[in-house]
Amino acid sequence: MSAAFNSIRMHASRAGIHVSGAESLVKDQEVEAVALELFQRAFKHPRGRADRIHLTIEQVVDSQIRSASLLPLKTLQVDSWQNGRAKAAALLTSHGIPSAVVESSIAALAGGAAAGGQVMRGAMLVDVSSGLRLEPDPNRGVRVSRMDIAPQLSDRIGTWLDAEGLSGPRVTEALVLASKVALYPQVVAELCWSDDPDYLTGYVASAQLGYRRITRMKAAGDMMGGRVLFVRGAQGLNTLIAKLQTEPVLFDGFDAEG
Ligand code: AMP
Repeated sequence: MSAAFNSIRMHASRAGIHVSGAESLVKDQEVEAVALELFQRAFKHPRGRADRIHLTIEQVVDSQIRSASLLPLKTLQVDSWQNGRAKAAALLTSHGIPSAVVESSIAALAGGAAAGGQVMRGAMLVDVSSGLRLEPDPNRGVRVSRMDIAPQLSDRIGTWLDAEGLSGPRVTEALVLASKVALYPQVVAELCWSDDPDYLTGYVASAQLGYRRITRMKAAGDMMGGRVLFVRGAQGLNTLIAKLQTEPVLFDGFDAEG
């Protein structure tokens, strides 16, 4: 087995409630630095001090890693979170998702989709036809994992994001996650906004649309957020969940023109 890459996953919680999480796929020589960075992120987070931090480091078999291209990114400027959510809803319904399903999903994210109105650790899976939630554990959700920028793309994507005024790990990590989700045809589209009280931007993404950042999706100070993956029915759901969680993907292509 050749094991040049490793999956590093961090999850931090307080009293059982999600505080922060992160995933990456890095070469042996980067494991120590990335693990330290994720640990520091878990320890000092705008959502508060975690009382439990899990850091998992696992070798990934090189031959199992899939290569793919990142979704093209565009930013939609909006002047209020209400307009941001209306814009997101319009993008989602343009995929054929009924507006009742879109509206109930937005309401679930806004109100806290886990038990007791708390944020979830992973994503909701919502059936596009019925609006029913399909994730096996509605408190945890499904955590998309084992994905990253390929080392050969890292400098180029960093330079491009800097030039766009989008430096820092947030956009890169969300773009990588959304690009992995969009690889699976059973997912129609994804909706996200952060649960960080000071990060108001969100997105709608799909293979068809690309990655559309929406500059405001919630009010400043709001601790709620999450992700919804709109899926075409329950058939093949277990395979989809397994791939979202465990298929390793490195992104080595990017079309800056969108
Ligand atoms: P973040 O973008 O890190 O602020 O996360 C916002 C929300 O998205 C979290 O509260 C989770 O519900 C969800 N989330 C974060 N990371 C993942 C992931 N890797 N897979 C699925 N859902 C996630």
